[in-house]
Amino acid sequence: MPTLSCLCGDIRLTLAKRPDFIHACNCTLCSKTGARWGYFQPSEVTVAGETKGYCRADKVQPNAEVRFCPRCGATTHFVLTAAAAAKFGNVVMGVNMLLAEPDALAGIELRYPDGRAWRGEGPFGYVRQPRILGAEGGVEP
Ligand SMILES: [Zn+2]
Repeated sequence: MPTLSCLCGDIRLTLAKRPDFIHACNCTLCSKTGARWGYFQPSEVTVAGETKGYCRADKVQPNAEVRFCPRCGATTHFVLTAAAAAKFGNVVMGVNMLLAEPDALAGIELRYPDGRAWRGEGPFGYVRQPRILGAEGGVEP
């Protein structure tokens, strides 16, 4: 099972499986939190250590609460807000796959959603073709 950790090691995340794909999204939240998200059912992720959370203040009802390590500041994961979980069910969380060892991600598809242009509902576009991560690479474009 893949294990991820923040820079200082206080936060560790254990995944029940590898993600089906990883998003390198260009939206404001993903860019400024420095995250490449893999998506999981909440039951598939175990978080060890105490994280802090932030919900963006420029949305009336934000759907995601980004969690981070209070010691080193690394973005670790996001969870749905209580309002979003009530609306959609608590069906998904995101894990920052940049915290994985690069060779743990070989063979996973990295996708590039155009989140910056997305209007908040319906399908989103992609800014470029996906690529398959190699053993050497990590998840940087
Ligand atoms: Zn840390």
